[in-house]
Amino acid sequence: MTESPPHCSFCGLKVPTDSPLIAGEKGYICEDCVRTAHELVINWKREHAVTQSHNPLPTPKTIKAQLDEYVIGQELAKEILAVAVYNHYKRLYHGNQGNNHIETLYHDVEISKSNVLMLGPSGTGKTLLASTLAKIVGVPFAIADATTLTQTGYVGDDVESILVRLLDVAEGDLEQAQWGIIYIDEIDKLAKTSESPTVVRDVSGEGVQQALLKLVEGTTVKLPKKSKERQHKNEQLTMDSHNILFIAGGAFVGLEEHVAKRIKPQPTEMSLRRKNKISAESLLHETQPEDLLRFGLIPEFIGRFPIIAILEQLDKAALVQILTEPRHALVRQYQKLFAYDNVELEFTPEALTAIAAKALARGTGARGLRSIQEQLLRRCMFELPSRQNVIRCIVDEQAVNGTGEIQMIESQQTNGGGVEYE
Ligand code: ADP
Repeated sequence: MTESPPHCSFCGLKVPTDSPLIAGEKGYICEDCVRTAHELVINWKREHAVTQSHNPLPTPKTIKAQLDEYVIGQELAKEILAVAVYNHYKRLYHGNQGNNHIETLYHDVEISKSNVLMLGPSGTGKTLLASTLAKIVGVPFAIADATTLTQTGYVGDDVESILVRLLDVAEGDLEQAQWGIIYIDEIDKLAKTSESPTVVRDVSGEGVQQALLKLVEGTTVKLPKKSKERQHKNEQLTMDSHNILFIAGGAFVGLEEHVAKRIKPQPTEMSLRRKNKISAESLLHETQPEDLLRFGLIPEFIGRFPIIAILEQLDKAALVQILTEPRHALVRQYQKLFAYDNVELEFTPEALTAIAAKALARGTGARGLRSIQEQLLRRCMFELPSRQNVIRCIVDEQAVNGTGEIQMIESQQTNGGGVEYE
């Protein structure tokens, strides 16, 4: 009795000469079938990941409602971003699922990618918005600082390093990473001739804009051997940035002057009326690509960011809300920290307003809130763990302004009794 020679159980290929037949318990598989199977698995995972995280793809209203839980104010920006993110993922989702009817009807129409540019003062929620969006859609998120990026060949992070970061956040899952969101902060610092006094780079800023062009539009990049996953597998990966949503943000100090100058030479009744009515800040809402061009962004770069969202300066009332209302509101965070020590932390309304006023004076938006709180509560946090009898801390306006102390209320039973010692 002769045994049939080994052959691939999937395609029937007999003993190949240039690659092994991999033996299983009941059969064999050849290299080609391994590759095909690998592709099938990857495609399945991609679709699965998509349907898992985007099914149903949240509507712009749902996205906005979820943003509301984390971000105070910035209503218009939230709406713009919700639509942008919805459209971005809808395009990918349908492209991936291949809706035949629509694909046939619009076979010659390719929906181009629309990255988003956020303009607004520091500490007004740009980074928070971008990261929350990624959380809502369930995709990996990475932040890059434009000021640390350099043109290829220069010392510093080249633009491809952004992708490496995203891949690391996705724990090496290339498919997931290629659907992620990247936030590029301080994009205004790449301006060629900015009026911002903090601009230290001129020529190289433009170079980085150039270097970013391809990446934000969509390209494939061979990643250097850096990421964790590739260390294991010892292979180089090619990452595709076509489906990555890029959100760029910056304060764009002085941009409103370019807007004002543009509006000025056309004193139509309408523009004059509007100009008189609107403040320097809300001039930003009139921003056109040509203003960004005058600010120092190169036209190609502006073209890659067709969606512009303007963030407002936060006023005192908004800062008070930020302290108390969002899911991760600072006051709630400290209350939880204190609760671990069985202490109730309370802020009077006047104290909250005083904290907001201090932050406002610093001019760094909501960013100042944390350090003000930290400074304010430091003494308490130092003492409390060794004072078991304190059950309540009350922060009032005087404590915030330095004319008083935070009141530490002790429990009646142990207060002054010294029972434990006697
Ligand atoms: P930006 O990127 O505009 O400089 P961030 O998003 O980094 O500002 O904001 C800094 C911190 O301030 C955030 O972590 C967040 O806690 C808080 N913050 C800023 N703006 C808002 C806002 N509109 N709503 C809630 N929190 C905010």
